[in-house]
Formats: sequence, C-alpha cells, structure tokens
Amino acid sequence: MTLTKQASTLRNRAVLALDLGGSKFIAGLVSADGNLIDSRFDRWTVHSEEGILEQLLTAASQLIDANPRTPPLAVGATVPGLTDSVGGIWLDSVFLGIRDFPFADRLSRALSIPAAIENDVNACALAESYFAHDRKLNDFLWVTVSNGVGGAVFLDGRLYHGARQGAGELGHVVVEEGPSARRCHCGNLGCVEAMASGRGLVSNYLQLAGRSSIEQQGLTAESVAELARAGDDIARQTYHMEGVYLGRAIAAAVNILNPSKVFLGGGVSQSFDLFEPALLQTVRARIYRHANPDLSIDVTGLGYHAALLGAAAIAQIHLKKIIN
Ligand SMILES: [Zn+2]
Repeated sequence: MTLTKQASTLRNRAVLALDLGGSKFIAGLVSADGNLIDSRFDRWTVHSEEGILEQLLTAASQLIDANPRTPPLAVGATVPGLTDSVGGIWLDSVFLGIRDFPFADRLSRALSIPAAIENDVNACALAESYFAHDRKLNDFLWVTVSNGVGGAVFLDGRLYHGARQGAGELGHVVVEEGPSARRCHCGNLGCVEAMASGRGLVSNYLQLAGRSSIEQQGLTAESVAELARAGDDIARQTYHMEGVYLGRAIAAAVNILNPSKVFLGGGVSQSFDLFEPALLQTVRARIYRHANPDLSIDVTGLGYHAALLGAAAIAQIHLKKIIN
C-alpha cells in the first residue's frame, strides 16, 4: 500500500502498541480513536535484547493473525529507562539487560511497518494529550506514582526531552532533608522517589508505626490505603505525608514550567482522595500564585492502559510524520 493510500485509510486502521514493563509486557492493537481492539499480556522469560524482541514479535504475530481485518500500519513501543526517541534507541535499562539497543529499527524490520519508541512515562503524557484531550492541551506536567516516581513535561504542544533525554525526572527532586530522609537509588538523600513511591509510602507507614522493615512483607500502598479508609490513624497520617512530599516536588516543577494542569497516573494515584488535601495545600503554599491562578491537579482518566495508549499515540504520530 502506498503512503498516500495509508493516509486516507488511517482513521479506520489500527496500530500495534507495545507497553514494556520491568517484569511484563502488554501488546495491543489500538484503533485510530484509541480503542483497544485486542491485546496479549505476558511476563518476560529472558532478560536480554534478543529474548525480549522474540517474545514481543511472537505476541505481535498472534495479535495480527487473530485480527486480519485490522492490520497495524505502524508500531509504537513504550520502554522503561532512558530512551533516544529520535534515533529509536533504547539507551539503558539495567534490570532488562538493555544497552544502546536499536529497538525501533529492529521492530520495523521484523514487522515491515514504521516503528517508534518512547520512555514509558513520557508516553503516558503523550496519550493524555493525544487521546484524552484531542491535542488541545499545550502545557502540562504528568506525574506517575507507582513503584517509582516519574514525570514527563509537555510544553508548547509537545514533549520536552531535555539535553540528554532526562527532562521530567521529578522522582529525584529532594523533598526531605531531615533525619527521616531516605537514601534513593540515585545516591542522593530524600528524593521524592525514596519518600513517596509505593515502597516509600510503605516505609513511611512502618516508620510512623514504629515497626521494622522486616514487617514490610505483604504490605503495599494499597493495603495502607485500605487501613486509612478503615480509620487507622497512622495510615491516614502516612497518606497525609504522601501529599506533602508529592506537593513539594510538584510545586517546584510548577514554578519552573507554569503548566495549566498536572495529571497523576500510576497505582498510588488511585488513592488520590487520601492525599489530595495535603497535596493541594502544599502546592498552594509553595507556588507563585499570580503566575498559576488556574492550576488544576487531577488523576488521569486514561486508567490502567495509559502507557499502552501512549504507545499507540507514538505509532500514530510517527506514521503521520512519515506520510506528511
Ligand atoms: Zn534520587
């Protein structure tokens, strides 16, 4: 099919979306308007570049064979870790054994369709812009709060990557300098990732409860949320701290970037009601209010498939660039 013909049929056709996590992946066929047509889920069995590629291509073949009426016109992949989205290179993901992997090129050659890749948190921001707001949202900050804390910066209608692809690393804003500041895996003390990720939240709960980290087994941010909703004072206090820590990091970013909105994604943000008051209070107290009078902070409406929809958005944007 010629590219011109592809353009005319783009609205009716699907793209292949690959959402890669640290231990698992989802492959999906997504329609032009963001509906998930079909998907496959699997866990990584091999942590290597070739092993990961093979598992993805197997899932892709199954999807394409099972849906002959919606062949994908392009493929988009969201990956954990540093990414050169322009060159299509997956730069680094230590736990998956990835280093300078020409991932987009390999996907494109194997599937015979255009391919593009992007960091997973950046991809969520793209999905928010592309599918949830019809591309009318120009300046916003995306914050993922799950096992880690990540951020993405969307400025002047596009993702901002920074000089070394590291823009939006909100997780390493220092939000605690007192004796309770915890060591972050980046080496610094008191990063918001160490203090307010899912793991950080559980550690805060144990610390407040005077219990040891050995007792952490089985306790999750979700179970602390359940305790808070059941009236447990320490759990409620933990979620208050969550709002304060996230609020400190978000306020710092807002003062620099002046976004109109902040979107929260990731598992911990599903308990937004428990930390919203402390977060809003902290942000309001720290931002330059005259410059940010209408700032809103909300949980994304994209739900569980935000990164997968991000992968679909990447594929569609890439395809349009080629066609134009
Ligand atoms: Zn850090």
